[in-house]
Amino acid sequence: MKKIVNYIFAYPKIPSYAEISFKLFHIESDRVMLLLLALQWVVATFITSIKYDTYYYGFFSGALVVLPLLYLYKYLKGEKYYRYFIAVAMMLFSVIFIQQYLGRIEMHFHVFIGMAILTLYKDVVPLIIAAATTIMHHLIFNYLQLYEVSLFDMPVMVFNYGCGFDIVILHAVFVIIELFVLGYMVRLQIEHTININSSQNQVNELNKELEHISLHDTLTDLPNRLNLNQKIKTVMSNAEKNSNKFAIIFLDLDHFKNVNDTLGHDIGDALLQTVANILKNSVSEDTLISRIGGDEFIMVVSDFNDQNELIPTINNLLNSFRKDLFIKGYSLRLSASIGVSIYPDDSQSIKDLMKYADIAMYKAKGDGRDNFSFFTQELNKKIHNEVDIVNDMQRAFYDNEFKLYYQPKIDIKSKKIIGAEALLRWHHKQKGTIGPNLFIPLAENTGFILNLGKFVIQNSTQAIKKFNSLGYKNLNISINVSTRQFQNSNLYQDLKESIDDNKIDPVQLGIEITESVMLKYVDNALIVLNEIKKLGVSIHIDDFGTGYSSLSYLKKFPIDTLKIDKSFVDDIIGKDESGRLLVNTILSMGKSLNLKTVAEGVETKEQYEFLRDNGCNIIQGYYFAKPMCEDDFIALLKEDKIYS
Ligand code: C2E
Ligand code: CA
Ligand code: CA
Repeated sequence: MKKIVNYIFAYPKIPSYAEISFKLFHIESDRVMLLLLALQWVVATFITSIKYDTYYYGFFSGALVVLPLLYLYKYLKGEKYYRYFIAVAMMLFSVIFIQQYLGRIEMHFHVFIGMAILTLYKDVVPLIIAAATTIMHHLIFNYLQLYEVSLFDMPVMVFNYGCGFDIVILHAVFVIIELFVLGYMVRLQIEHTININSSQNQVNELNKELEHISLHDTLTDLPNRLNLNQKIKTVMSNAEKNSNKFAIIFLDLDHFKNVNDTLGHDIGDALLQTVANILKNSVSEDTLISRIGGDEFIMVVSDFNDQNELIPTINNLLNSFRKDLFIKGYSLRLSASIGVSIYPDDSQSIKDLMKYADIAMYKAKGDGRDNFSFFTQELNKKIHNEVDIVNDMQRAFYDNEFKLYYQPKIDIKSKKIIGAEALLRWHHKQKGTIGPNLFIPLAENTGFILNLGKFVIQNSTQAIKKFNSLGYKNLNISINVSTRQFQNSNLYQDLKESIDDNKIDPVQLGIEITESVMLKYVDNALIVLNEIKKLGVSIHIDDFGTGYSSLSYLKKFPIDTLKIDKSFVDDIIGKDESGRLLVNTILSMGKSLNLKTVAEGVETKEQYEFLRDNGCNIIQGYYFAKPMCEDDFIALLKEDKIYS
């Protein structure tokens, strides 16, 4: 007997890996069951009510059963428990039908509903719950009937098949047997018909899809890092066999973060998809392309003898980015930096090859981006050198090797020095002068920039005090503030303390921040900047034009000055009219926002005159003066020169 019961109730064995797909099937089943429920609601409201005029009862009691389940679908779809609720609801309808004096129809519903639950879910538990519900309603109604209770003002004396418990039990037994037979039928169906095959196919398809997902990037559908590693192994063993070379080409988009921060992730995502397509169209078909994260792509190229043979391919890649891309209504100018490592010349380990390509890519970025670089052992040395620099910074700081230099800013109208930008220099005892472009990014990575930043604030305010004491009281000295300082230091507090300590007028101090700082920490940046502004310190937007900030955006921030990035100033002297047009656009943008405009990196007379004639306010650049030490700056002030 136990064996038979086990056999009938045995749950069809589902492989554990197919669980996800099963969940999906159940969502489909849930929908069918909900449809059946709604159908019953219609039947309860209209068809069965015609004779006895019980529309209202049918409609409202039907709603009580159907609506909660429709509501729960959103939260519980695919859940095991949801099926149980559906089973209960299905059976509750028979209560409604009975109440509408249609007991006979109700009898047949057990069969119909049992069949529905079993075939859709291939699960016996909801069926047992359905049976239990049926039995319960028989017991309760029988009880009510014995005491002649009425429900919603309708007499419960509606059974036309008896009123004793013996009849109820008999009825229940009958229902259970019916369900057992149904269960058996469904089991046979599962085991022996094509139905199971088709669902097995669905399971297989889903598994294939899952496998695809696990090996591909969902955004671009390119192979992901895991997949790439597997494929490189194959490429490598082939190369080993045939003593061939292959190259790892590491490509990273320039300033992609700006797009993401400014225009949002939607545009960023769309851009990455476009980039994936560009890559596919720019390399030969047998090139392996993969997105390994963010805006980083790796390509694997085989079949070449000398690394110079790769250059046309690489140039082709770089070129394909050097045009305007139209994405969701935005015209974006993009470029990429590429690093290349080669098997077996650079290394025979995949891990090292990847690392080396990455190092080479950083070199390309350091060289001004929109560029490529092959890995070399010298580069490796340079990286080690950088590690040394990082380790040496602390010592240098206490040995007073850091100094502030001042690059004069000239007012176009008065033709006089009206201030300076304070720029850090590291005079290393052994290595000579190290430029900020080398150590500032490293200091930002390690957090040491917080010490340097405080040092700059203290030194620049002391210098202002000194300039004042010498009679130069109207200078504005601006300092550079890095992202990191914005994020997690007491920037405001440090500024206030130094200003108070040196008893200087806060108007004499300015901070230079890049657009990305504002864009990245919008809310926080706004609060901090407003505080600093209230203090009286002026705010300059550095490298303006490289960060995609919009007009409406700029209006929100308490800005005093736009500093036009050197790259735009460079373009003033080009053949291409568009460079001049862009500078003019920025200048008129500044005017319309009531901001002062500073041009930095002005090196020639031609640039100066163009800027002067088009309404730029302040000039900073080698044309007038390079950054210089404090004493030299004071000497220059004493000259009281006219600049033109
Ligand atoms: P930046 O803020 O854009 O500074 C302007 C850079 O352009 C300076 O380079 C300056 O020397 C250089 N420059 C000025 N005029 C000309 C010109 O006519 N031609 C050319 N070719 N270059 C010109 P520098 O001093 O090497 O500083 C590089 C970057 O390092 C700065 O770019 C700034 O981002 C960062 N930096 C410098 N000092 C500090 C500092 O105290 N704190 C922070 N956070 N960053 C600093
Ligand atoms: Ca600056
Ligand atoms: Ca700048």
